[in-house]
Amino acid sequence: MTEVLKGRAIKGVTRPNKQFKEDRVCAKKGCNTKLSRYNKREYCYAHAPVRFPRVRGRIVPEGT
Ligand SMILES: [Zn+2]
Repeated sequence: MTEVLKGRAIKGVTRPNKQFKEDRVCAKKGCNTKLSRYNKREYCYAHAPVRFPRVRGRIVPEGT
């Protein structure tokens, strides 16, 4: 029973190859794109926050 307390609490200690639930979808509101259980991102490719190093001081707004 004590094992329930383990795992999630400590980040970085757990194995990186843990699997996610199969039902994960994009964290973007209204987006139901399913994410691979091996995909550790929260968003689908379309909504994944991408950083453009070349664009300085300018952030592309999401959801447009
Ligand atoms: Zn999405």
